Parts: sequence; C-alpha cells; structure tokens
Amino acid sequence: MAFTTTNRDTMKGHLVPTRALILVATFGTIGATASSSSLLAQTAAAAHPRPQDTEVWTPVPPIVTPGATDAQPPSDAVVLFDGRNLDQWVSARDKSPAKWVVANGIVTVNKPSGDIETRRSFGNYQLHVEWRIPVGITGEGQDRGNSGVYLAITPAGGYELQVVDSYNNKTYVNGQAASVYKQYAPLVNAARKPGEWQTYDVVWTAPTFKSDGTLATPAYVTAFHNGVLVQNHVALKGFTLNEGTPFYKAHGAAPILLQAHGDKSAPISYRNIWVRPL
Ligand code: MG
Repeated sequence: MAFTTTNRDTMKGHLVPTRALILVATFGTIGATASSSSLLAQTAAAAHPRPQDTEVWTPVPPIVTPGATDAQPPSDAVVLFDGRNLDQWVSARDKSPAKWVVANGIVTVNKPSGDIETRRSFGNYQLHVEWRIPVGITGEGQDRGNSGVYLAITPAGGYELQVVDSYNNKTYVNGQAASVYKQYAPLVNAARKPGEWQTYDVVWTAPTFKSDGTLATPAYVTAFHNGVLVQNHVALKGFTLNEGTPFYKAHGAAPILLQAHGDKSAPISYRNIWVRPL
C-alpha cells in the first residue's frame, strides 16, 4: 500500500505527511499500537528494500564433486560404463548379459547380438555419453554408422536421440546425428569427423500420465552435441517411429537403450556413459 495525505495519525487525528510516517516507522513507534507499527515497518521495508530481504539460505544444495574432466562422472552419478565391463547392461532381446565388445576402455556395437539396455530404470535424468564413428566408415545416409541412444525404452516404444555419421553425410535432417528421430532436427550440425570422439549431454524429462493412461505432460529433451546446444527443451510428440505418427503409451521409469542398427557399415563405439537421476 502507499500512504497518501489522507492517512491520519491515530494519536493526533491530523493529516500527517508521508515522509513523517516513514520516519516513525524507521526510527520509532511513539504512540503507535503494535499492529500499526508492524504495518509501518512493512511499509518502510517496501519503500526501502534491503539486500537481505531477498536472500535465501536454506535448504543448502548438496555438495557434488565434479569429475576431473567434464567427461568423468560427478560423485553422485550412476556410472553405466567406465571402460571395464557391461555389468550395468543387458541384451534388450532377452535380458541376458550384454554381448557387445569391451576392449581398451571402450565398448563396440556387436550388431548380431542386438540392442543393449540398462539394468536399471530411470525417470528424469542428466546423461553423458560418448560415441565414435570408425575411420573408414562406409555407406550413405542412414546406413553410415547408424546407432542411437534411446532415452527411455518401453515395450510399446522408445525415444531415440539419433547417432549416425553426420560429417559430410546427407540424410533427412530430422534423422541426422542429434536429431530426436523424425521429430526434431538438431539446431545445428556439430558433428566431428569419423575417428574422433563425440559427446552427448542430455537432460531428459520423462513424460507423465494421468490415472486413465492419457498424457499429462510430454517428454522434454535438452541436448548438447560436443558442447553445442542442439535440442532446446523440445516437447516430444510420442515415441520416435520410423513410420507413422508418434504416439504415447503410458509408462513409468524405463531403461536407457543403445541401438545396434542393422545397416552394413562398420560398428561404432561408446565410452564414458553415466547418468544423474534428477
Ligand atoms: Mg538410429
């Protein structure tokens, strides 16, 4: 509220200038009641905001020790692959131990054994994953180093952040590297050439569903490719499909899946995979 010349001093019953009221609130409450002094104090605070009025001190954010480099997992991350084994992964086909090839700190797609997925399920999260197209990759378009990171996989479908060689390799833009497959082209093409490691850093907001199974809020994806923003909080239209219109089917927490694509090009590799549930 603002004081005007119509405000009255309750003690004297006379009109009091605004400046005088503020002085009373600031330096004393002579003759004023407790409630009116509180009101005056609030009015004075509004008229003269202090820095500490808008400082928040609790709750204190938990301490997380970052990795030695941004590629390394922070202290609160779930490490999905650190170069040693695939203990955190199973075959998507039959849930048997994952059979991709681990050597020299990296894992290489084993196409005949099919997709692999995490043993654990996740809701919202931050994900880091690195991938490399092999030198001498062959093929064109979608048939050149195709793989993919499914940010959630369910029996009815999944949501693919595309992995494919997009360095001097033309294809439909909503299917190139860092696209949300057939839904959103990346904002830019930040691809590195074959033989170089590339990073995805992703913020995944899982969709939510009403009790009747209909969609409450869509999935959202924010993604960086090699440190460059490529997806800026895009709202997914449903599962990413090769054919037809995307749709949702209700699900809860879900595994993350890496795709073994059936194209004839040489298999790609992954490393440094970790996730921070949010
Ligand atoms: Mg793919």
